[in-house]
Amino acid sequence: VTTFSGKTVALFGLGGSGLATALALKAGGARVIACDDNPAKMAEANAKGIETADLREADWSEVTSFILSPGVPLTHPEPHWSAKLARQAGVEIIGDIELFCRERASIAPNAPFVAITGTNGKSTTTALVAHILREAGRDVQMGGNIGTAILSLEPPTESRIHVVECSSFQIDLAPSLAPTIGVHLNLSPDHIDRHGTMENYAAIKERLVAGAGLAVIGIDDPMSRAIAEACEAKGVNVARISVEPIGRKGVFADGETLVGITGSDAAPVANLSGIGSLRGAHNAQNAAAAVAIALALNVSPDEIRSGLHTFPGLPHRMEEVGRIGETLFINDSKATNADSTEKALKSFDDIFWILGGKAKEGGIEPLKSYFPKIRKAYLIGAASDDFAKTLGSDVPHVHCGTLDRAVEQAASDAAAMNGASVVLLSPACASYDQFSNYEVRGNHFRDLVRGLPGLEAKGA
Ligand code: ADP
Repeated sequence: VTTFSGKTVALFGLGGSGLATALALKAGGARVIACDDNPAKMAEANAKGIETADLREADWSEVTSFILSPGVPLTHPEPHWSAKLARQAGVEIIGDIELFCRERASIAPNAPFVAITGTNGKSTTTALVAHILREAGRDVQMGGNIGTAILSLEPPTESRIHVVECSSFQIDLAPSLAPTIGVHLNLSPDHIDRHGTMENYAAIKERLVAGAGLAVIGIDDPMSRAIAEACEAKGVNVARISVEPIGRKGVFADGETLVGITGSDAAPVANLSGIGSLRGAHNAQNAAAAVAIALALNVSPDEIRSGLHTFPGLPHRMEEVGRIGETLFINDSKATNADSTEKALKSFDDIFWILGGKAKEGGIEPLKSYFPKIRKAYLIGAASDDFAKTLGSDVPHVHCGTLDRAVEQAASDAAAMNGASVVLLSPACASYDQFSNYEVRGNHFRDLVRGLPGLEAKGA
């Protein structure tokens, strides 16, 4: 990043993207003073040539900008001490996306830039768009809140497309965010603790689309629909996304068919049937958004169809691990709450369900209407007793303790059943009681399944 050359910049938060930001600023000729509450992170940055200091003791009179890393609170529940210091010193507080935006404005102002946000489906949509564009032969850089930090990507050029997942934190800290295509998928009461009110959370999301050349907006929840209407009223170019028919420009899912609407014409663009990586209405929303983006970037419907069909999906999100006979094995380890697990239970029938771990508030109560689809449940981890009570006599269940035992028993029960079935790990729980995170849990499930006799692995 060269726009800060010769200037002094302070930075707090030396996680992955914070360190990437510090390195990018330094490489571009800025003086960076970095800080973290964790001394090990300070030492790591130091070893990479970054100057570190306790910002409480720094001379703020030299500092022109203060960079706050994603996840460090700017407002709620209260501002981080470093943000308070910056504010007292009258120094602007920005994040890594803002640095990218300024760099783009200075070196390639017309570089195609797709920025994607929403409560759910950000990573899936970002990965899907990047995949479709790459398969269509475009030069694509993907990152942000998923995978590579935005400032570790290759720099923007007029022909290179940046596809970037943005969290609300990142949008909040990017005042000059004005992407070529801004995407807002949906809004549900998540992260409210970090943004104060739902209105504030919605306002942050709205800013991303309101400043875009094209605003792709999901309208299937009331607050997102209001965002779309507000943008339309302001004259923003909006493409609406829905899993119901829409009367205006955009892309909607009619069952498994994605239909594009331009002017008064409606034309089917693609069909999702048989695409294992995009099962379920939630993925129809993600796919419809991806199609709207690809169409706007002049990708042909043929190329879009081909990209959708070859999308491998993201690991741990209803990921197809393989089959044994008529039994499908699905890794949905990312489902750490009932809301997420609901998407999986909706998408399958005759389910041998592995669940449990460290329960969230409300447990699996909200999932009761799906219980008739469950052939049997396999309980693991700390939540087992509570979940057993909720399952009650409606759903046959066993206490397995470990994931190893659950996979073994579920596979054997599913094999004994006649007809199609699904062994589904969708825990509706955090993993911390037995695993260090949901990825470790999902990887372990995948390994266990791949070790089962007779498994035809996906893609093998
Ligand atoms: P994010 O990056 O926003 O966390 P992901 O694409 O990683 O979203 O998906 C995480 C989980 O959110 C999925 O496992 C699924 O349960 C749920 N999900 C995905 N897409 C949507 C959507 N469009 N609407 C609602 N829930 C979704």
